[in-house]
Amino acid sequence: MVDSAFAPFAELVPEASEETAPFWDGLAAGELRLQHCPACGSYQHPAESFCYACGSTDVAWEAVHGHGAVYSFIVVHQPYHAAFRDRLPYVVATVQLDEGPRMLGPIFDIDPAAVAIGMRVQPRIEPVSADRAALFFAPEG
Ligand SMILES: [Zn+2]
Repeated sequence: MVDSAFAPFAELVPEASEETAPFWDGLAAGELRLQHCPACGSYQHPAESFCYACGSTDVAWEAVHGHGAVYSFIVVHQPYHAAFRDRLPYVVATVQLDEGPRMLGPIFDIDPAAVAIGMRVQPRIEPVSADRAALFFAPEG
């Protein structure tokens, strides 16, 4: 079921390519999925046809818990898209996932002054339409 507050984000979810479809399908299923390399054990994002770490072309998709720490962040005060108008001001953070990769995502519903480098966060996956979902982050809890 789509929380109507997240429906405006539907048009910001990109069309999936063959390479990125497992990521978007994972979000639609309520899971954060990353590419994992069985050869060297590393996780990576964004998707690629080979492992960034060892070059193996045997990369697979795996659901991960996706918790991590804020590596860096900015506070956004201007609505660059109408979907964000009611969210101002909000944080966009680079999150250092426990699995290894860094991901970028908004953090809503928190006083930006309460966000700090190193703060623990977790994925917040919100359906934006009947078959698509978007990734945000939220304080770990
Ligand atoms: Zn590898």
